[in-house]
Amino acid sequence: MASSTQHIRSGRGHRTYRRQRDILANRYRRNGWPCPECGRPFDWANPQSAQGFTADHPRALATGGKLIGQQLVAMCRGCNARKGATVMPVITPATLPEGDQTP
Ligand SMILES: [Zn+2]
Repeated sequence: MASSTQHIRSGRGHRTYRRQRDILANRYRRNGWPCPECGRPFDWANPQSAQGFTADHPRALATGGKLIGQQLVAMCRGCNARKGATVMPVITPATLPEGDQTP
């Protein structure tokens, strides 16, 4: 009997993540659940569209990218992009001169 939990503890949870995401996607698809964020139905025919299904770890970045043991949150691509924008560092254009920043 090989210890099946060994690879999970190795810190490489990508395979686990993909499995969890697939399970979540299947559940949403089968039940016809909409995006919990915006309430619009997922576009299963066009996964790359704004209503395509995505699953993300809300705290993946905060915990240093640890993928294991985190609950996946389903949302459409559009909502995911919006959420991601709040997590990603905001890059402000530094092309304006100092004295030109009118409030
Ligand atoms: Zn959405």
